[in-house]
Amino acid sequence: MFGREGRGAFSRALDAKRARKRFAGEEIAPAAVLSGEGLAAEAASKDARESAEDFVVCEICPHACRLRESQRGRCKARAAHGGRVVDENYGRITSIALDPIEKKPLARFRPGSKILSVGSYGCNLSCPFCQNASIAAVGADASSWREVSPEELVTEAVRARARGNIGIAFTYNEPLVGFEFVRDTARLAHEAGLVNVLVTNGMVNPGSLAELLPFVDAANVDLKGFGQDFYDFVGGDFEAVRATIQAMAARETCHVEVTTLIVPGMNDSEEEINALSAWLASLDPEIPYHVSRFFPCHRLTDRGPTPVRTVYRLADVARRHLRHVHTGNC
Ligand code: SF4
Repeated sequence: MFGREGRGAFSRALDAKRARKRFAGEEIAPAAVLSGEGLAAEAASKDARESAEDFVVCEICPHACRLRESQRGRCKARAAHGGRVVDENYGRITSIALDPIEKKPLARFRPGSKILSVGSYGCNLSCPFCQNASIAAVGADASSWREVSPEELVTEAVRARARGNIGIAFTYNEPLVGFEFVRDTARLAHEAGLVNVLVTNGMVNPGSLAELLPFVDAANVDLKGFGQDFYDFVGGDFEAVRATIQAMAARETCHVEVTTLIVPGMNDSEEEINALSAWLASLDPEIPYHVSRFFPCHRLTDRGPTPVRTVYRLADVARRHLRHVHTGNC
């Protein structure tokens, strides 16, 4: 999957992954690290004899962070308090704007309308090319936020109807690490006759997703690459993301669109986009698909922007399988 240019980055990613595992033992002790060989090593140490009650496990996403009291998870948004894991970023809004719905991007859901878009901080992936790192890659201490209750946000969204607003989009950082706030607000928004939009990386466990889906009218899911090797690079779980897209596509009341950011030398081969779009078409060939152009940012500055002709060529590849393919950032 990785071209010549991307191999260095990929091996750096593997090193980073190993380092994360070492580091994770001290900081968040994800369940995966405490299995197999890791478990045997841990069991030999005195610390590992702490009883299971010393930890609580977050069930929101596949990282399954095991947290001691007051410890934060990998996403920097959730933490253990009072013997359970809660979204510390509940109601903490870092960004809010009334955006055209096409900017989410959603090309085929209520075109021409606007949506009140809100974000908090934190994310359960660690993409080196994150375009919103100033809020997504940080926790409470490194971001500036104001507190807004679900009721206040819905009131603001209803007021914005006069300016063309149709609802609330949970976006900018990864909304599902703030699961409880999204759920509580989305429920109230529905009661007020508003729609709810999720812009998500799709890294969520099926149980949490099932609880939220009745309130989700539309979603754009990032499908960052088509294989676990790319998801190793960004610290995620490929199958979990596929399962999210599949569940959304199967749900009649949820309109779903998918986006891939094309990073030169990493996920820009015709084979990868061909396989990805063929899989999407196997769910539904009507799923709108966005092929988006990368610009150097955050920790990935060793290469230039994706050539526009590459984005157009890969969009044509996707059109072999899908009826609605859009290009972005070109
Ligand atoms: S949502 Fe956050 S705390 Fe929960 S498992 Fe995922 S990364 Fe860990």
